Amino acid sequence: MVELKIPLSAPDITEAEIKAVVDVLKTPQLSLGPKLPEFERLIAKYIGVKHAIAVNSGTSALHLIVRSLGILEGDEVVTTPFSFIASANCILFERAKPVFVDIDPNTLNIDVSSIPSTPRLSSGLRASQHLVSSKTKAILAVDLFGLPADWPKLQQIAKKHNLRLIEDSCEALGSELNSQKAGTFADAACFAFYPNKQITTGEGGVIVTDDDEIAGLCRSMRNQGRQDNGGWLQHQRLGYNYRLSDINCALGIVQMKRITEILVKRDKVAAMYNERLKDVQGLKLLSSPSGTRRSWFVYVVILEDGYSQSDRDNILQKLQAKGIGCSDYFSPIHLQPFYAALGYKKGDFPVTEKIAQRTIALPFFNNLTEKQVDFVVSALKPLL
Ligand SMILES: *Cc1c(COP(=O)(O)O)cnc(C)c1O
Repeated sequence: MVELKIPLSAPDITEAEIKAVVDVLKTPQLSLGPKLPEFERLIAKYIGVKHAIAVNSGTSALHLIVRSLGILEGDEVVTTPFSFIASANCILFERAKPVFVDIDPNTLNIDVSSIPSTPRLSSGLRASQHLVSSKTKAILAVDLFGLPADWPKLQQIAKKHNLRLIEDSCEALGSELNSQKAGTFADAACFAFYPNKQITTGEGGVIVTDDDEIAGLCRSMRNQGRQDNGGWLQHQRLGYNYRLSDINCALGIVQMKRITEILVKRDKVAAMYNERLKDVQGLKLLSSPSGTRRSWFVYVVILEDGYSQSDRDNILQKLQAKGIGCSDYFSPIHLQPFYAALGYKKGDFPVTEKIAQRTIALPFFNNLTEKQVDFVVSALKPLL
């Protein structure tokens, strides 16, 4: 392994975060202390929702949303195959079935136009059966790479077919659609705080919702099924230990207080790349349709149609050899080995597969310098 001169991502930790964490370590309340509700209040206020329930990862947040909506074995949830795997795994956790729909090649989000009427692919079902059936309980859409999905259309479809909506906004803290914040479009949404996200708590996540029942269930299930006013050894329902410690929350509080500054820094880095790459032959850059505000998560470019997957992999390898962190964001979920058991196979979602073969995520983080961007761009250009 070559030592990376420029990592793919890096957290932005200042002295204020370090002090906040150390301060908690000097108290007896390392978990379930005052930092948890303080962090939750900051998130709820920023997003503009009634409830925020912090948990130990974005994956845990998704799992609790699925459980709180009562999605069970045999139920189906319509979702995207072009995402981080957790957005479909959370459906499998409950032995429900993810029913994938291909993506829109321009936004990379779930293609809403094919949800209500597309014949189902593979899975051994008749082509006359539609994606939305009597088994369908919910649509789980992802605000991929920080771009909100087409929520007005998703809301229409959900209303028409009586479905619940789940928003995986783990990559979209600060994103907006028609001036409305990501995280407010569905029955419940979640954010994640792994170190490559817009803000970090080391590990962590949060559920946001206006629904009192979902909030109550998530709060109880993250803490072993306990009730707010019940005893430590009284368990109302099956729950988990998905708690987020006060150490993590203290880190998150400082990061949330810096959110405006953080998003400005990320916009600046994305703008530096856009400026240098906009006229480069062979590349397609991410665009943001009118009415959307993308909160940058990763900086991904897409090679044009003439390039093959092995061309892309070669470019990744050559960039890495120069010490430049880069990656193939994302590999389609339906092609991961354990999804084959559900009947999915290569060719099922051609738009997703075609794009996934050609993506390159370049180094992207708050403190990436202009010099580093120049270095990455000058390494990339001759490889095209
Ligand atoms: C990061 C992410 C998650 C959650 O990730 P964790 O590592 O569990 O915090 C979920 N969905 C998407 C789309 C993500 O990018």
